[in-house]
Amino acid sequence: KTAMVWFRQDLRLADNPALRAALAAAERVVPVYIHAPVSGGTWPLGSASRWWLHHSLTALDADLRRLGSRLVLRRGASFQVLAGLLAETGATAVYWNRCYEPSAIARDAEIERVLRNEGYFTVESHNSGLLYEPGELLREGGQPYRVFTPFWKAMQKRGLDCLPGAAPTALPPVADELWGLAVGDLGLLPRIPWDDGFYGSWQPGEAGAARRLAAFVDSGLAAYHELRDRPDLPGISRLSPHLHFGEIGPRQIVHAVRRALSPEVEAGAEAYLRELAWREFAHHLLSHFPETTDAPLDAKFEAFPWAMDDQAALTAWQDGRTGYPLVDAGMRELWRTGWMHNRVRMGVASFLTKNLLVPWREGARWFWETLVDADLANNTLGWQWTAGCGADAAPYFRVFNPVLQGQRFDPDGAYVRRWVPELAGLPNDVIHRPWEAAPAVLRGAGVRLGETYPLPIVDLKSSRERALAAFARLKAAE
Ligand code: FAD
Repeated sequence: KTAMVWFRQDLRLADNPALRAALAAAERVVPVYIHAPVSGGTWPLGSASRWWLHHSLTALDADLRRLGSRLVLRRGASFQVLAGLLAETGATAVYWNRCYEPSAIARDAEIERVLRNEGYFTVESHNSGLLYEPGELLREGGQPYRVFTPFWKAMQKRGLDCLPGAAPTALPPVADELWGLAVGDLGLLPRIPWDDGFYGSWQPGEAGAARRLAAFVDSGLAAYHELRDRPDLPGISRLSPHLHFGEIGPRQIVHAVRRALSPEVEAGAEAYLRELAWREFAHHLLSHFPETTDAPLDAKFEAFPWAMDDQAALTAWQDGRTGYPLVDAGMRELWRTGWMHNRVRMGVASFLTKNLLVPWREGARWFWETLVDADLANNTLGWQWTAGCGADAAPYFRVFNPVLQGQRFDPDGAYVRRWVPELAGLPNDVIHRPWEAAPAVLRGAGVRLGETYPLPIVDLKSSRERALAAFARLKAAE
């Protein structure tokens, strides 16, 4: 018997239930990845994600080859390619791990329906990506949670214990005559090489994910609750792109955290698992409210008076040239490495949506294009939460102040100095507000505001008041 394993957002061999089930059921197992460039609805892969995918597929193929198999890579519409492969290989079963993006759910349901109708194929799907899938945790009465804390409590009540599956130690070979593309044929890498900074920052693939987890459990977990808001320190796990592509699963992470538990680690572990639960919550929200990728969860925000055409403000934000050092550092870190610290993500998102009044969707689109961890569930929640129009919204009047945030979470300015080197010579007391530095201090640091570094593009106080007034009008209209 021959079975196919259709890899999608589960690019790993360990704790991969679809692979395990296929190996248990068939003598021949064909690992397949289908690149469907037009899939993804209105959210096709962004450039940074394409970079990651190239390297992740390369790593997966190498891992499969080490165990005697290989990845059969094809391109085209998922169903047509799958149907063709079933015919070519004589496979009678398809296994996959479930995806949770609305367009993927619709695609999978349709493929499953058609294959099942043939009456000839076994179609089996599994959960590799979440601790609890959408629908498993509901409020009394069956309603979905819209607020995080009760969701997290429900998760804790049900328990987080889990035993991840081991990786196979050998795999059946794939017939030589079954053709596949080389990863390079997919054309995922950029033609203009803007990705230098990515190579030094990341090791896509299962081994890179495992290494990152081990390093974090070893040296980051114990102090996570204290350092997780510090972009200047290596206090977080940086597992987000690995999780998004399924190079590691949450069960493996929870298991590793639990194994490391000791009194010194407990507070850090609790805070870390809570953060992982935000990811679960985001996936639940997306599944229950799929329209939120493009529309505010809180419908009254449809009428919000965004500054729709402020292209200059949007470009300054994207380029990291707003004149606010913490915002600019974040946007440049994003461009150079495909990633940004969570504390800074909240700050730049608040700045864009509240101080500049640019619609949150513009920010979400830019993140989608530039993040290696671009994830429809997490990105949608992050943007709606910060803009104040989503589930569990921060109160609208919470407008992050980039100067105070910088002073508090980057107290020595190390993060700003790293990503905005033209300000590196400024002393700590003005590094987050260079426009208030004395002329002699600026001269001494070689900073010419408006020339070497921009003057602030917006006044914090009046733009905050403008946002609050717009919000008050919206509320009054309710
Ligand atoms: P850690 O602090 O080590 O946390 C571990 C894991 O928990 C993360 O890898 C992530 O999977 C999950 N997690 C942590 N915080 C959150 C959160 N607030 N929401 C959801 N999951 C979380 N995360 C993405 O993975 N993809 C996105 O596209 C994305 N877009 C965002 C946009 C905005 C505006 C904001 C405010 C946040 C966004 N986040 C996104 C959430 C968060 O910023 C990242 O998950 C986190 O910075 C990743 O770094 P880490 O792996 O070191 O996190």
